[in-house]
Amino acid sequence: MAALNRCPHCRQHTIPRLLKLTARHRSPAVCPACGGRSCTGITPLSLLAHFGLILVCGTLLRAAARIGNRWTLLAVLALFGGGFLYICYRTPLVKLERFPLQRNIAIVVVALLFAAGGGWWFLSGSA
Ligand SMILES: [Zn+2]
Repeated sequence: MAALNRCPHCRQHTIPRLLKLTARHRSPAVCPACGGRSCTGITPLSLLAHFGLILVCGTLLRAAARIGNRWTLLAVLALFGGGFLYICYRTPLVKLERFPLQRNIAIVVVALLFAAGGGWWFLSGSA
């Protein structure tokens, strides 16, 4: 795991990628070089990627529910979880102090889209 992420404060590659995955608002990644705190940012691109992932997995989930195979359902859920982690992995770190409100709104929007999208797919599939 030699891959390091760029610190948004001092612009050096100091933060391990695995640490970045756990870097959240409440437990930020701390740069060993400058001590700057940062967390995984949500960019318009990552929001779009999450939305696309939700749509694709929602479609697959609906198909899997129709097939009725438990393992197919689990595979789709694993794909969704993996895709979600992958997008978080690719999303650059941002300064913790930057855009906290926008970030929270983005998280709420993604959660709502997921809930609404999932419910809609399931309801329209069983009708
Ligand atoms: Zn730094």
